[in-house]
Amino acid sequence: MSRYPDAFIREIPKTDLHLHLDGSLRLSSLIDMARKGGVELPSYAEDGMRELVFKDRYADLGEYLAGFSYTCAVLRDPENLERAAYELAVDCIDEGVRYIEPRFAPQLLMDNRDLTMDRILAAVDKGLARAKAEFNARPEVAGEGLPPFDYGIVVCAMRAFGERGFSPYYDAFYGIHRYADPAEVIRMAAVEAARGAVRIRDELGIPVVGFDIAGQEAGHPAGQFREAFDFVHQNFMHKTVHAGEAYGAESIFQAITDLHADRLGHGYYLFDPDKVAAASVRDKRRYIERLAGFVADQRVTIEVCLTSNLQTNPSLERVADHSFGKMLERRLSATLCTDNRLVSNTTVSKEIRLAVDNFDIGPSALKNLIVYGFKRSFYPGPYAAKREYVRRAITRYEEVARKYGVE
Ligand SMILES: [Zn+2]
Repeated sequence: MSRYPDAFIREIPKTDLHLHLDGSLRLSSLIDMARKGGVELPSYAEDGMRELVFKDRYADLGEYLAGFSYTCAVLRDPENLERAAYELAVDCIDEGVRYIEPRFAPQLLMDNRDLTMDRILAAVDKGLARAKAEFNARPEVAGEGLPPFDYGIVVCAMRAFGERGFSPYYDAFYGIHRYADPAEVIRMAAVEAARGAVRIRDELGIPVVGFDIAGQEAGHPAGQFREAFDFVHQNFMHKTVHAGEAYGAESIFQAITDLHADRLGHGYYLFDPDKVAAASVRDKRRYIERLAGFVADQRVTIEVCLTSNLQTNPSLERVADHSFGKMLERRLSATLCTDNRLVSNTTVSKEIRLAVDNFDIGPSALKNLIVYGFKRSFYPGPYAAKREYVRRAITRYEEVARKYGVE
C-alpha cells in the first residue's frame, strides 16, 4: 500500500496553477450547453464523446487540441462562461483544491459584436466569485479553520489561431491586417491581448493576475511575443509561458530572459540535448545542465502536467520516464497541475497520485511540492495577505499529515 493514502491526498490543501478553463468543462455540461445552443457535437453521449474526442491518448498535440473547437463554441456565451467557471471552482473545491488560476484566451471567444473581452472576463469572474463566496461562508472555513478558497485569472495570448473560421475575432484581425506577414499579425494580436488584460484588471477590478502564451509551440519561438510580455511586465502583472512542451531548451531560456517568465508551463523538454536547435550551441549537454541550474537558481517554477504530457508525446510511454524525475533530482521548483481536467480526464488528486506512485517522493519533498503551489501562485491580494494565506495552507497540511502519519 502507498504511504500516501487517497484520503490523505484528498484532504491536504492543494493548488492548480495550470488549468485551461476551456479544457476543463464538465462533459455533461458541454453536452447540455451544445444541445441548448445548437452546437453540433460528434456525439451527445458522454461515452461517445470519450471515444471520439476526449481520449486517453492522442496522436499528437494537434489531436489533443481538437476538442477545444467544441468547448470554445459553447463558451461564446456569457451564461455558459459563468456556469463553466462556477462548476470548475466547485469541482476543484470538492477535491480539496484551495487555490486555482484558470487560464484561457478571450480572443477565441469574442464575436466582434457584444461579446467583448470585458464581458467575457466579467462572466468568468462572476462564476468563480460565486463558488468562492459559497465555500468561504461555510462554518469550517471560519477563524483558523480550513484555508479559504481563492483564485486569480490568467489571460492567454495565442501562438497560432487555429483554422480560419475558428475564431471570429482572429478572422477579423487578419482581415484588418491582410497585408501584414502572418507572424506579425500574431505578434500584434498578443499585444492587444496584453493591453486588454491590464486594462480590465485596472478598470474593472477583476483579478487578472497573469499573462501567458499558449497554443502550438513549434514554429513560434517565445521571442516573437516580447512586446506583449514587456507591456504586462511594466504593469506589474505576472508571467507564465508555455515552453518546452513541443520545443526545447532554447524556448525555455527565451521565456525566462525575453518574456520575464515567473513560471513555465510544462518545461518537459528542458533536459533533452536533442531539442537544442541552435548550431551555435556546440556542447548541448553542457548547455542544458547550465540552463537547468539557472532555472533552479532563479526559482522559476515549472507547472508539471504529467497526464497531459503523456497523452501528447507518443515517445513517452511510462510516467516514470517523464523529465519530472530530473526536476526533482536537481531540486527545481515545481508544482503539479492538471492542464485540462476534461481533455486530459484528470484531477489534481490524480496527478499527485501519479507522481508519488512513479517517482521517489519522500514526505518532505511532497510537502515542498504542494506548498510551492501556494508560494509561487500569482495571488491577487497584497503580499502580506499572501503570506498569511500560505501559512494557513502549511498549517492545514501539517495537521492532515499528522492525522495520516505522513511525516
Ligand atoms: Zn497548457
